[in-house]
Amino acid sequence: MAEAYRDYADFLAEHFDGKVQKISINAGFSCPNRDGTVGRGGCTYCNNQTFNPDYCKPQLSVAEQIEKGKRFFSRKYPSMRYLAYFQAHTNTFAEISRLSALYEEALAQPDVDGLIIGTRPDCMPDELLDYLSRLNENHFVMVEYGAESSCESTLKLINRCHSWNDTVDAVNRTADAGIPVGLHLILGLPEENDDTIMSTIDAVSQLPVDTVKLHQLQVIKGTKLARDLEARLYTVPGYTVDEYIDLCSRIVARLNPSIAIERFTSQSPASLLISPQWGLKNYEFTHKLNSYLKTKGIRQGDLFNR
Ligand code: SF4
Repeated sequence: MAEAYRDYADFLAEHFDGKVQKISINAGFSCPNRDGTVGRGGCTYCNNQTFNPDYCKPQLSVAEQIEKGKRFFSRKYPSMRYLAYFQAHTNTFAEISRLSALYEEALAQPDVDGLIIGTRPDCMPDELLDYLSRLNENHFVMVEYGAESSCESTLKLINRCHSWNDTVDAVNRTADAGIPVGLHLILGLPEENDDTIMSTIDAVSQLPVDTVKLHQLQVIKGTKLARDLEARLYTVPGYTVDEYIDLCSRIVARLNPSIAIERFTSQSPASLLISPQWGLKNYEFTHKLNSYLKTKGIRQGDLFNR
């Protein structure tokens, strides 16, 4: 643990020898929270335009997207290895025959050593997990679930259309299948405060989770969240940079030290972002946070409740 916390590089180093880079893929999936399968309209904060870099368009095949991504990254590191990151929408929301064809197309590309599959916790049938478990025997396979919060009233307010129990169930079944699990959490959701956020961190700390991605809530143009806030239907904490650094430092102290923290912030395109307008790149925020943790002598797990 080089920093005050276990980071994503620490996690990857346990699985790979050299440098590994994720390549985002938009395989053209839909989302069960948009097409009426579990809900309509999607999560209130979601605008899928914010998900993908330029090389990643569903008009291109998986192989073409990987090739473009590799060209982008290999300029700097010619010997780089890659993980195909199925990121946009819900990447397990299709028949297994279609899913397996897409996943295996990715794995067949030169220099691709594995898959990371982003999905919802209510969209992982046992049959698919069995298939992924078999794939995991010869390739690195990881599943990332969007959990966002453990607070049921928050999940309702943001229209996630799944429960925290769905997350617990999916994480446990995935870990039991021998597949590494990542969780995505949003900090600063409507009506949440320090207590609700720390309850989520404590709940996550009890699960067999390998990595977490933390993001500040971003209010994106054209979303229901933006309209609801405009109409003053509820409030969000709306952290300043310094408040968010302090929050992240308390999360680091509280989180189970075996869980790697992949990131603390995300950065939506400036043209779509309403707030917060921090004007900081992700790496600049991490640098500030690391200095803060060092100054305060905070290390991951200092306050972990076993
Ligand atoms: S955040 Fe994910 S689950 Fe929610 S609407 Fe967007 S794609 Fe669907």
